[in-house]
Amino acid sequence: MSDQAPPPFEPLDEDWQTALAVVAHPDDMEYGAAAAVARWTAQGKRVVYVMVTSGEAGIDSMDPQECRPVREAEQIASAALVGVDTVEFLGYPDGTVEYGLPLRRDIARAVRRHRPEIVLTTNYRDTYGGSYPNQADHIAVGRATLDAVRDAGNRWVFRELVDEGHQPWNGVRQVWAAGSPEAGHAVDTTETFAAGVASLEAHRAYLDGLGGDMADAAGFLDSFGRMAGSRLGVRYASSFEVVPLR
Ligand SMILES: [Zn+2]
Repeated sequence: MSDQAPPPFEPLDEDWQTALAVVAHPDDMEYGAAAAVARWTAQGKRVVYVMVTSGEAGIDSMDPQECRPVREAEQIASAALVGVDTVEFLGYPDGTVEYGLPLRRDIARAVRRHRPEIVLTTNYRDTYGGSYPNQADHIAVGRATLDAVRDAGNRWVFRELVDEGHQPWNGVRQVWAAGSPEAGHAVDTTETFAAGVASLEAHRAYLDGLGGDMADAAGFLDSFGRMAGSRLGVRYASSFEVVPLR
């Protein structure tokens, strides 16, 4: 029945210390997940960000060469507002990221270096629910991240990583995909909602170039956060699809 309320979300496990977020673009974490990151860093957890691209094709009026340093600086400032002091850029081309072995190897290297218990990424499904299609980079990066977490634990996959000094890491328990239409879990972000808005607003040049509903940081996150919150029984929440790995 279409008028049935969606099922309640399960609370996310918070019994961990280190998470690695792997996303396609600067701003991907900020459209819904950054308030959760603010909560976790306030609890003393460590969260590291890895950006597969620098989002250099994200502003129509700005040439990518000129755009890249602007967006990298905005992402670093944005991350700092939610307690993240390490942001790495893998340098893949924005808009044309391909799922493949080089991407899996580079993400696996990051997993081995940072040794997280939880890996965060964004929606890797074909849509956001309904018929609105997901963006190709998000799908490629999300799928590669799921696979790279396994690769990180296998010494015989990407053997050059061991030669580089990166020993296998089998400690990732789950991958959490933010903004997934298959989300079944969420975390209360009522206390850190404002930090999440501030972290999205730090992408000033990007938001100015964007226009429309998604450029209204507070408005977008308010409706998104309330929707998730109503299914967790709190004011605001961030929702995730939990992919168990062991
Ligand atoms: Zn994106």
